[in-house]
Amino acid sequence: MESKAVWQKRIETNLEIVRQRIAQAAQRAGREPEDVHIVVVTKTFDAEVVRAVVAAGLTDIGENRVQEAEAKRAVLDDLQGVRWHMVGHLQRNKAHRALELFDFIHSVDRLSLAKALERRLAPQERVVPVLLEVNVGEEASKYGFAPQAKILDPAVEAVLALPHLRLEGLMTVAPLVDDSEEVRPVFRRLRELYEGLQARYPEAPWAHLSMGMTDDYAVAVEEGATMVRLGRALLGERQR
Ligand SMILES: *Cc1c(COP(=O)(O)O)cnc(C)c1O
Repeated sequence: MESKAVWQKRIETNLEIVRQRIAQAAQRAGREPEDVHIVVVTKTFDAEVVRAVVAAGLTDIGENRVQEAEAKRAVLDDLQGVRWHMVGHLQRNKAHRALELFDFIHSVDRLSLAKALERRLAPQERVVPVLLEVNVGEEASKYGFAPQAKILDPAVEAVLALPHLRLEGLMTVAPLVDDSEEVRPVFRRLRELYEGLQARYPEAPWAHLSMGMTDDYAVAVEEGATMVRLGRALLGERQR
């Protein structure tokens, strides 16, 4: 693999472009660019690339599989100040391992998973921030809660009753489309759902809308994303 210095340079160059696009999108929406956090999704990239990402000043790292995150963390245990984000579908029987690896879980996509996480966290007296994943497009291939209040409200109430999960917001993975404008209604819908929940459940510490990936993050920022999850925009095409 190429040296860490080469990766760092590449990431810094890409980051400049990404920050500029985020700033422009935020401006179009009358938002502050500082309110948009970048989570770098490093799936398929080597642990050394994660080091280069951190050297470039980005400390929110996302992975979508427990096993891959575990392999990387094993060789990165000296890396300080990183916040690890789980962004992929999580099996219940991996809840325990996931909690050892991750600080923030974007992909709570069903109640049974929330309960499994709670069961593992309670004995440690540890509280973990989570987002509920919503399948806004109601795609058969996607995980997540259906986007109706009659589904989401009971889910929110159930998660708020779990004292070791801190419900900070919603997440979605938009459908694959050719033109990113086509996903705008999906992001807008997620924001509307978020605002509705915020009004009905003011006791929850609502803080985040995790939406937008390489092909659509500018639109997501215009529609209110506070976390964009970026892989290729910063790292280039995936390695495997
Ligand atoms: C891979 C992945 C991303 C990043 O995708 P890019 O298109 O490379 O930016 C974001 N979110 C999730 C859930 C992913 O699995």
